[in-house]
Amino acid sequence: MIRLARVEKAYGHGAARTFVLRRVDLEVREGEFVSIMGPSGAGKSTLLHILGMLDGDFTGEYHFLDQEVRALKPRERADLNRRYVGFVFQSYHLIDDLTVYENLEVPLQYRNVARKERQALVADTLDRFGIVAKKDLYPAQLSGGQQQLVGVARAVIGKPRLILADEPTGNLHSDQGREIMDLFRRLNEAGTTIVQVTHSEQNAARGHRIVQLRDGWVERPAAPMSAGQAAAEGPAVAGAETH
Ligand code: ADP
Repeated sequence: MIRLARVEKAYGHGAARTFVLRRVDLEVREGEFVSIMGPSGAGKSTLLHILGMLDGDFTGEYHFLDQEVRALKPRERADLNRRYVGFVFQSYHLIDDLTVYENLEVPLQYRNVARKERQALVADTLDRFGIVAKKDLYPAQLSGGQQQLVGVARAVIGKPRLILADEPTGNLHSDQGREIMDLFRRLNEAGTTIVQVTHSEQNAARGHRIVQLRDGWVERPAAPMSAGQAAAEGPAVAGAETH
């Protein structure tokens, strides 16, 4: 589903040029659940934004479902994102002047879901996430944890083929965090591909394999989660570079 080859990203020019991603090779097959880990500043969010087609300013190759993403116009990239990707932002990125209900409707509107079906899906999602009582509130009226829940709900409501989640449980109570990871597991078992950035070993262990980033480089080995899974998965495909 995802194939990155020699992807690099830098900020600044000349002597002030600093690389955030270095020669990143990464493959994610449809149906995988991958966790990206690494110290703060390693480039995890940057990588996730590139995977989500939210950032087209990089070099190298990115093939998504057999499309070369860098060859696309910004609008075409945005369309791919809307069609296939549910993104959980670290800082939520809810739309300030829309209520919780309306925020949840947005991805369904992008996908031209009919009004009646939208209402049913939003009602069901509000219920599943235990946020029915918050539906008419605006993001600023919610706690960080509640905004994060809405952000996760918005990412999954349209049943995207790919979920990209940047620290999706960072502001949740541990019970809520576990529920979100249980939800991700169920979605993944039903075929959804998931790539999450996490600092939590526990959350990372819910996926199939871990990709370690450090100073913009993908590190080997990509740790398999269990001997059984490792055997089933074969060799990890991330990070063929040695450095
Ligand atoms: P992580 O998610 O692993 O903490 P990020 O991807 O957020 O790391 O950031 C990687 C590096 O890129 C950091 O050193 C950060 O300071 C730098 N960076 C991110 N955005 C910008 C920007 N707009 N301009 C310059 N440097 C940036």
